[in-house]
Amino acid sequence: MTDAATEVAANLADVRARIAAAAAEAGRDPGTVTLIAVGKVQPIERVEAALLAGQRVFGENRVQEAQGKWPGLRERFDGVELHLIGPLQTNKVREAVALFDVIQTVDRPKLAAELAREMDRQGRRPDCYIQINTGEEAQKAGVLPAEADAFIEACRSAHGLPVVGLMCIPPVDDDPALHFALLRELAKRHGLERLSMGMSGDYEAAVALGATHVRVGTAIFGARDHG
Ligand SMILES: *Cc1c(COP(=O)(O)O)cnc(C)c1O
Repeated sequence: MTDAATEVAANLADVRARIAAAAAEAGRDPGTVTLIAVGKVQPIERVEAALLAGQRVFGENRVQEAQGKWPGLRERFDGVELHLIGPLQTNKVREAVALFDVIQTVDRPKLAAELAREMDRQGRRPDCYIQINTGEEAQKAGVLPAEADAFIEACRSAHGLPVVGLMCIPPVDDDPALHFALLRELAKRHGLERLSMGMSGDYEAAVALGATHVRVGTAIFGARDHG
């Protein structure tokens, strides 16, 4: 193995162990937490190293980048599960429905309608998460908490989307625990079982507060600027 591959495998083992420890500490079965490895903007060798180390669940931010990378990798590795965790433009919905197993960033009526239409057309129904803008940040994607109840309900009944959970990205300067707790309460109110929350800096806190999916990039692959 190359140094980079050894490093990725070691990082993965470390993150998995920390998730298991955080789950145990919270009295949770570690098997209820899924690690999503976020390989965006990473050299392909690092993503391959994670696959060789047994990782199968991956997150990507951009439809186009994922399209260039994953069809080839899926030919070589079985059982890959791909999550879209970045903003989805309506003109990319067709590609997204075809490529991803899970779409975590449903956050506006027009997108929900377009996704529903495209799923019917393709006969393919990726699981959907509703992204909540828990920090109410103007520049950030996601539904505002005050509008979440109505939007979640509309996604399920009016659009018939297969909504399975909620996702959030807390503001960088806030204590993420408040946002994780808010997301958990909202999910509970709607009977949604999956919570995608927690990144490299706070995934253990997220596990403590009920995350079923953590999205970890840097802690596995290293900083994203290493050419
Ligand atoms: C990049 C990204 C992550 C991973 O971030 P790290 O801090 O590198 O772990 C998680 N979630 C989303 C939505 C991202 O865009």
